[in-house]
Amino acid sequence: MIRALFRLMSYAIVVINLLSCGTFLYIIAPYTSYFFFNDLRFWKYLKYYHKYYFYSAAYIWGLLSREQGLIKTVLPLTSPPMDRPDPTLFRLSKQWTLPEDSCGECNRCCTFIVDCCFLDTSGNRCLCYGSLFWKYFNCGRFPSSQAMLNYCECPKFETRG
Ligand code: SF4
Ligand code: SF4
Repeated sequence: MIRALFRLMSYAIVVINLLSCGTFLYIIAPYTSYFFFNDLRFWKYLKYYHKYYFYSAAYIWGLLSREQGLIKTVLPLTSPPMDRPDPTLFRLSKQWTLPEDSCGECNRCCTFIVDCCFLDTSGNRCLCYGSLFWKYFNCGRFPSSQAMLNYCECPKFETRG
């Protein structure tokens, strides 16, 4: 129940932020900073707020206009936060030669539909790693479904079976 409320609140914040032309994230800056970066020192992250506004608008528009098939991959509201794919469904690919905690040069799951605003392309690094946003939505648990695995043609994971 708490998880469902948390996710609904997060979706509501995204909608309110879009309707307010990106100002809402600044109004709730300490929470925004904690949600995305695990850090209450919001002044360090203000430059990402407007980037998230444009990213979220482009992502939602891309999803609705081009990639409706991915809408079914939206997580159930009550699903637990996760920092790895479901081990009962997915495992490391037999062809994967890099360490388990590395994705090498690949960033497909951070650039589908539109490039994520929290991807540091200079080091192929996630700036949100480990945050509430990362754990509660599709990042930490990627791939969250077979559809996502197929869509991103992820070279790292394969279906267990
Ligand atoms: S698609 Fe797979 S290999 Fe590529 S960044 Fe995502 S999890 Fe890593
Ligand atoms: S893992 Fe990080 S960079 Fe990739 S989509 Fe999620 S927040 Fe963006």
